[in-house]
Amino acid sequence: MTEQSPALDNLLTESRTFPPSEEFAATANATEQWYTDADADREAFWGKQAERLHWDTKWSKVLDWSGAPFAKWFVGGKLNVAYNCVDRHVEDGHGDQVAIHWVGEPGDTRDITYADLKREVCKAANALASLGVGSGDRVAIQLPMIPEAIVAMLACARIGALHSVVFGGFSPTALRSRVDDAEAKVVITSDGQYRRGKAVPMKANVDEALSGAETVRKVVVVRRTGDDLGGDVPWTEGRDVWWHDLVDAQSAEHTPEAFDSEHPLYILYTSGTTGKPKGILHTSGGYLTQAAYTHHVVFDHKPGKDVYWCTADIGWVTGHSYIVYGPLANRATQVVYEGTPNTPNEGRHWEIVQKYKVTIYYTAPTLIRTFMKWGSDIPAKYDLSSLRLLGSVGEPINPEAWMWYREHIGANRCPVVDTWWQTETGAIMISPLPGVTHTKPGSAQRPLPGISAKVVSGDGTEVPNNGGGYLVLDKPWPAMLRGIWGDDERYRDTYWSRFADQGYYFAGDGAKYDADGDIWLLGRVDDVMNVSGHRISTTEVESALVSHPTVAEAAVVGATDPTTGQGIVAFVILRGDAAGDGAGAADGAEAIQALRDHVAKEIGPIAKPRQIMVVPELPKTRSGKIMRRLLRDVAENREIGDVTTLADSSVMDLISKGMRSGS
Ligand code: ATP
Ligand code: MG
Repeated sequence: MTEQSPALDNLLTESRTFPPSEEFAATANATEQWYTDADADREAFWGKQAERLHWDTKWSKVLDWSGAPFAKWFVGGKLNVAYNCVDRHVEDGHGDQVAIHWVGEPGDTRDITYADLKREVCKAANALASLGVGSGDRVAIQLPMIPEAIVAMLACARIGALHSVVFGGFSPTALRSRVDDAEAKVVITSDGQYRRGKAVPMKANVDEALSGAETVRKVVVVRRTGDDLGGDVPWTEGRDVWWHDLVDAQSAEHTPEAFDSEHPLYILYTSGTTGKPKGILHTSGGYLTQAAYTHHVVFDHKPGKDVYWCTADIGWVTGHSYIVYGPLANRATQVVYEGTPNTPNEGRHWEIVQKYKVTIYYTAPTLIRTFMKWGSDIPAKYDLSSLRLLGSVGEPINPEAWMWYREHIGANRCPVVDTWWQTETGAIMISPLPGVTHTKPGSAQRPLPGISAKVVSGDGTEVPNNGGGYLVLDKPWPAMLRGIWGDDERYRDTYWSRFADQGYYFAGDGAKYDADGDIWLLGRVDDVMNVSGHRISTTEVESALVSHPTVAEAAVVGATDPTTGQGIVAFVILRGDAAGDGAGAADGAEAIQALRDHVAKEIGPIAKPRQIMVVPELPKTRSGKIMRRLLRDVAENREIGDVTTLADSSVMDLISKGMRSGS
């Protein structure tokens, strides 16, 4: 046999495409030529992109890959990341431009100009230095989405300290393991945070987490909820200090030091969708170059004109690269919103878009499917005509969700960019280019200029069009991780051992090429199902289910089956109008049969779910990704695995109970 069986069968097809409008194309930041230029000389291309930044010392060499898989980009170059994100815009005469339109959940707002931001970052940098934090030290940050979170990150970058941002909703155990792993010297947090209209404590959790933590010398506390929390904030004398006492007293002058291009910038732990989170290490020059470049071309960002809004939390990589580093390096004016999308009502995001005339909106499929579930009449009540571009990140976006997004949010006018990347890649890798690419619902399509990705079979050979396999990155890229914090072996093992002979980075995701050679992401390879010898992707079956008018969200897993090897088990959430109880409800036996038939019609009888469960919620990580491994535990009647990064662990009880009564 010469031909390796592909890693994945290609089942779902999609023929809709949307060419860019002439108007958009006429002023687009990138053109088709960029691909040609990058292919002709990749390193020269990246050298040119690095010129977006201010370098105190220019690099002597673009890439040193001699220590592979540990890359060095812009060798010998020196820069200050915070200076690039803040000071230089002020020096260029844009001090009065708003950097952040901040919107608090209770309705309070702050507009922060670049001059304001510079003042705050300088003070915070002086404050950290006064606590003995210096170059190479680690600072853990657990804060809600308030301006101080961004200021704290930039202050660390300014003095060469590494930040490790921990999501505000994480438990004391999760915070503690991250603090210990990074040996953080200082922790920055707040008294409390607003969540769904209520003030909830934060400092109390941090204290629980830090009990006996040996490396932590100081805890800096931002006052956010104040009197709303009621009662006193727990306090450890000598260790704890209020942000306003410490920072406000500092000088607003701080001279930024130039650090080596490879100086570490931050550690960030992955979402933990597939297992124990990994502490991903990013460095300075290459990371900032790619974050700025991708923000410029993928979002077609025009400084001083656009109002940009990325809805991610700062605790995830999307918040790092597309709220802090990319947009600020590019002098964006952006919205930062503190709260949940349904506080005080389900129109909150659209009210914000209307008020600030947001032009670029970047969110996750989980939220888009939630908006679908809430109904299109909600966005229809607002003026969304300022929008000109929509983005998606975090999971494969089902074609139906993509179409809904384009139609009901983008008025069939805005290009939709589906951006594939990971904490490890640091910045966007695969995405359409707005104004250039003919977009397709559900496909991330093509590696960006300067990036190389392939879909390969198990032996590392590229699969032909219409073939499925493993997604690999076959050339180093500037924002690539420089390792897993403190664990070089795990780094080599996790990413570089699967295709060691070829020297490919293995992303852990399955993908396919369509007939045009465009890339479709098909979910984690760990989640791929094997039904009677057919390797079926979870994404394709989920997308088929979501294309049925009654289904809002779906998660499918392969469960051991005596006859077929694995059987497909689907968990579905119904749309608002279909979920009603009583006669006509869609969770009856007939309705379930209709869904099974629908999948068979969309992608073939082989993909028909053995069992479909209607559930009220799905288990998700706190970044909104579905944790299929937990559903597999349910479907196979096993004890449920690690749930520490689950947003709401009670969801699993609901599902297991329903599963037992339903079968
Ligand atoms: P862990 O590695 O700990 O399991 P994680 O992979 O969920 O966590 P992230 O780095 O936040 O942590 O997520 C990256 C993953 O998200 C990708 O590997 C991919 O599976 C998925 N992903 C992100 N964007 C897209 C996209 N546009 N299309 C398809 N999948 C995407
Ligand atoms: Mg991952």
